[in-house]
Amino acid sequence: MAFVSSGRCVVVGAGILGASVAARLAAAGLRVTLLDQDQPGRATSRWSLAWLNSNDKAPRPYHELNHAGMKAWAELAPDLDGEAWYRPVGHLELATAETAAELEARVKRLTQWGYPARLVDPAETAALEPALRVPPDAAAAFFPGEGYLLTEPLIARLVARAESHGAQVRTGEAGRVTGLEPGAAPRVRTATGAVLEADEVVCCAGRWTPALAAVPLVPWETEGSTAPGLVVRVGPVPGPVRLLHTPGLSLRPHPGGLLHLEAEDAAAAVDLHTPEPELRRWAGELLRRGRRTVRGLDDARVVELKVCVRPLPADGQSIVGRLPGSPGVYVAVTHSGVTLAAHLSRLITTDLTTGTPPALLALYTPARFTPDIQ
Ligand SMILES: Cc1cc2nc3c(=O)[nH]c(=O)nc-3n(C[C@H](O)[C@H](O)[C@H](O)COP(=O)(O)OP(=O)(O)OC[C@H]3O[C@@H](n4cnc5c(N)ncnc54)[C@H](O)[C@@H]3O)c2cc1C
Repeated sequence: MAFVSSGRCVVVGAGILGASVAARLAAAGLRVTLLDQDQPGRATSRWSLAWLNSNDKAPRPYHELNHAGMKAWAELAPDLDGEAWYRPVGHLELATAETAAELEARVKRLTQWGYPARLVDPAETAALEPALRVPPDAAAAFFPGEGYLLTEPLIARLVARAESHGAQVRTGEAGRVTGLEPGAAPRVRTATGAVLEADEVVCCAGRWTPALAAVPLVPWETEGSTAPGLVVRVGPVPGPVRLLHTPGLSLRPHPGGLLHLEAEDAAAAVDLHTPEPELRRWAGELLRRGRRTVRGLDDARVVELKVCVRPLPADGQSIVGRLPGSPGVYVAVTHSGVTLAAHLSRLITTDLTTGTPPALLALYTPARFTPDIQ
């Protein structure tokens, strides 16, 4: 089914994905209502490393999807006050003697795929990022096409763009969806008792998606779940300027003179049940690693600490498309949603306005989980 030009569309969720979808659909002329149980952009998207990349994404089509995502933000930036949120600063990665061969092989593969990547020597590494303490024996690679986004100012602008094209935005209890009835004219119920009728409902509810639309995500509330991660923001700090991955620490600048820190072992060690003292111990550990990694952190302290949750599709790949057996319901949920949202929202808009799913979306259809349901 394709929308008529004045079709009514309810978008559930105003994270990076829902805000992008609402902005594109409203700009395409649809009558959009954007609902969020909180204020826009306060959930996973607020805490994301927000690294724009297709650095190690497999298989190849998923790599291409992410690479297209990076290009889509670059295209949108001049048209949406990109200075406020677009940071194409490049990514510098350090490896140890043990991981250097993997880094070299990855750079070679990405270069063959036409993705900007190159190995750099210690002198160039130091020149690229003066704040970085470069170990003398470190292998390093630079990915000049990568960077990061500031999701809060970006989502604010996407929501404003949607509103400028006539979208209605409801937040808090008025925006909290408690029921979704599929059908020729699907209906959405909110916590305040309102019933919204639409031609299509697009569910962009992030990790809460399974409560509204039956798609399989990695369970995130259970102890030991791999979906939660730990974000620590420290400051004040004068630098660095790029997004960095070093053995044991990922970091990037954050507004307000802060550094956003993450580490794989910290993410693996915490979940939504981890006691506060244990979280604070990890935060202190990441700050210590930060001091060893970059200069200028002597006076820094932990400013923000959050266990946040990735929406992780069960097979690791994006889930985008019409929900089988649920007419009028369209789902979009993905990891790497920051990298992907600008491009996915464009594909989703094409799908909904033409009724023909772009070929690129075929791999990501929700129907792959329910082959027996049309
Ligand atoms: C620690 C961490 C690091 C990450 N790093 C990266 C990275 O470097 N690069 C990258 O591309 N991606 C990264 N990701 C993933 C990326 O952040 C997510 O894929 C993306 O933010 C998901 O956006 P979303 O809009 O789908 O979800 P959210 O931002 O969670 O938005 C969903 C919205 O839906 C609303 N909602 C839910 N249920 C309802 C309901 N019933 N009624 C109304 N509203 C509802 C919520 O309030 C929320 O605002 C990272 C994630 C984490 C946790």
